[in-house]
Amino acid sequence: KTFEGLGVCEQLVAACDKLGWKNPSRIQAEAIPHALEGKDLIGLAQTGSGKTGAFALPILQALLEAQHPFFACVLSPTRELAIQISEQFEALGSEIGLKCAVLVGGIDMGQQAINLAKRPHIIVATPGRLMDHLKNTKGFSLRTLKYLVLDEADRLLNEDFEKSLDEILNVIPRERKTYLFSATMTKKVRKLQRACLRNPVKIEA
Ligand code: AMP
Repeated sequence: KTFEGLGVCEQLVAACDKLGWKNPSRIQAEAIPHALEGKDLIGLAQTGSGKTGAFALPILQALLEAQHPFFACVLSPTRELAIQISEQFEALGSEIGLKCAVLVGGIDMGQQAINLAKRPHIIVATPGRLMDHLKNTKGFSLRTLKYLVLDEADRLLNEDFEKSLDEILNVIPRERKTYLFSATMTKKVRKLQRACLRNPVKIEA
């Protein structure tokens, strides 16, 4: 299989090529055609499977078609994972003027607020820090969000994040696409899935 054959546009195929991504990984091959059709996704996948590309490529392709400011939010359970995700978005989006902001704890809120004022297309965040910005950063909201990604959903559902996650889900538009990725399918993940996703397609790495 090729990225082109999955429906990925020329510009993004070139970006994959530049990263040395010659062929789609299994999760990418399964996810991308459904995502490009506008479906919500549940992906059972571990880190290392190429899951970031599986959600980043369809989001970037939709962004190329729409050119909306602030478009997608990826929630990650850890700072390190959030940074890795934003690095992949930036690498794939380097030729298309993509602006990405990372909102994680342990880093100055003020600098992050400056990045938000530049109207990033993609925000990668941990739930607690995203909530801090929604409460404290003037002019920032999730009203124009079109895509929500819950990455490592099983780990997002720990006690520390539950309250923030709930609050975030309450303030984002209902009309959106949602991609949920998890290494395991627990009871809590299934509950989150029912609350957040619409007729999702289930895929496995
Ligand atoms: P992930 O599972 O998304 O954290 O990705 C793991 C690693 O695989 C990252 O370093 C990606 O750059 C790399 N990767 C993702 N997709 C592909 C692909 N189709 N071909 C080769 N490497 C890839």
